[in-house]
Amino acid sequence: MTSRITVLATGGTIAGIAGSAIAKDYVAGQITIEDYLEEVGGLGLGAEFSGRQIANIDSADIGPEVWNALHPAVIEALADDDCDGVIVTHGTDTLEETAFLLDLTLPASKPVVLVGAMRPADAVGYDGLRNFANAVRVASDADAAGRGVLVVMGDRVFGARDVRKVRTRGTDAFRGFPRESVALVTPSSLEWFGAPWRPDAVAQFDWCDALPEVVILYAHAAMDAVAVERMIGQDARGVVVAGVGEGNMPEVVRQELVRQRASGLHVVRASRADEGLVDREAEDDANGFTAARALNPQKARILLQLLIANGITEPAAIQRVFDGS
Ligand code: ASP
Repeated sequence: MTSRITVLATGGTIAGIAGSAIAKDYVAGQITIEDYLEEVGGLGLGAEFSGRQIANIDSADIGPEVWNALHPAVIEALADDDCDGVIVTHGTDTLEETAFLLDLTLPASKPVVLVGAMRPADAVGYDGLRNFANAVRVASDADAAGRGVLVVMGDRVFGARDVRKVRTRGTDAFRGFPRESVALVTPSSLEWFGAPWRPDAVAQFDWCDALPEVVILYAHAAMDAVAVERMIGQDARGVVVAGVGEGNMPEVVRQELVRQRASGLHVVRASRADEGLVDREAEDDANGFTAARALNPQKARILLQLLIANGITEPAAIQRVFDGS
């Protein structure tokens, strides 16, 4: 049966052009969704597409402006009886942030799949068509519903909360942590590794157009309190520490954050390590800090922003969400 897929395009390397099959440099976000769908229309993917250009930019520039256009567009597609699934094309650099933000704020009633590419469209070995064909396979599968937002890269499917970009070269650039991939996919096959984990389908948090400011502090040896104070500034409602090791930081930094916590700043301890898992410590109770668990700093930031925006500001309540997310 032919599936009906809505494609929302935001740009990235999947729509990038180098002007040569072997050039290193290229410009992301060059191909329009109309041209892209004309090309994939000839591949015989067993789907009918309707497309919409939300943006056409490098994902380094993705932020509230694009998110505020993308989120209602996905909601509209999910509500459309003529849509079986949604694909969002996106640059790979910040794909994990958009995926996680959507995952936290969308119902899991139909498949929503983010996909990108590591090589521009005119490069030899362009991975964008294969990734897109795989994304169509996932978005067409009714069993993809109830799993939240999914990311398809390199013949693998990842859950939005697990996925992270771990390499800057090559097509095998994404990994899941602490859960690895949740399915293997090719344009003609799809193998799930378990049952859907969000059968209730409802959105976890309300969408918010204006997310509060939360900064990420990248901890390092010899970091001092003055630099921390400067980086946090006046307007931040929260800070995520990309801590050394298991969310640790120099003592002077900890003391500065305890001081700022007393005037309401929310503090989350994450890790700068690739596979950082930060558990709660006894000291966190006294400090009023939260442990990010397996979320990396950029995802912990998104979650803290949403929690504050949704009025969840009590430390124990914040920790409960981080524990379950
Ligand atoms: N800089 C590009 C982007 O994130 C990289 C990519 O898409 O792979 O838009």
